Amino acid sequence: MEISLLNFFFPRMCCICKRHGNYICDDCKKLLKRNLPECYLCRRLSPLYLSHSSCKRRYSLDNVFVGWEYNKMSSSILRLYKYKNVQDISEVLSVLFIEAIQKSAFANSLKNTLLVPVPISYLRKSERGFNQMEYITNEIGKVFQLDVRSDLLYCKNSNIHQASKNKMERYGSKENPFYIKNSNKSSEFEYKSITLIDDVITTGNTLEKIAQVIKIHYGMNTVVNALCMFRGKPYYLSTSQPRL
Ligand SMILES: [Zn+2]
Ligand SMILES: [Zn+2]
Repeated sequence: MEISLLNFFFPRMCCICKRHGNYICDDCKKLLKRNLPECYLCRRLSPLYLSHSSCKRRYSLDNVFVGWEYNKMSSSILRLYKYKNVQDISEVLSVLFIEAIQKSAFANSLKNTLLVPVPISYLRKSERGFNQMEYITNEIGKVFQLDVRSDLLYCKNSNIHQASKNKMERYGSKENPFYIKNSNKSSEFEYKSITLIDDVITTGNTLEKIAQVIKIHYGMNTVVNALCMFRGKPYYLSTSQPRL
């Protein structure tokens, strides 16, 4: 009763086409294009989402899942989700994201792993008051019955924050804004891997900065995986050779 009253005064509306009913309607859901399983480094097909050993470098991740193609449609969802009805869109996105993971071969990598959301800087968090990746990570944790640590990884209040992340991903940066706090190595060593959760991946530079911090802290053999919602077409392949 309460819910229908709430719907009467604040009807749910598709954030894309404004149709009443749901935050993302069924027709718009179909426009979300699933990415094929690939090695995130060379962007060639890799059925189990494994990074090819020939592609890997010192701080590369082992296994990276990407949900959907980053295109006009997904960028408008992300814009809304970052700056407006954050919680509403996050709820819909987390359900869709979990469905995509469950249907993929990556689901097998989600055993005895510790889930860690990619942090945003304090400044950014106080502006928004909400880190949507924390919310989505908690939802994944509930469905797959995995532990979540949102207080393990931090991002300094540097000039590198979410909005300029693309720039850092594209050009790289010597500075590593990430660091580990509140670590209890003996309990964290019980997990087989650490799985980072992020919204957009471009080159993978941000995730590798985090992998670097994790591997230096826990040891170079620590398995670091990631679940990312969106990734665009491999724009860098047109200007440079893939990393082989
Ligand atoms: Zn729609
Ligand atoms: Zn590869």
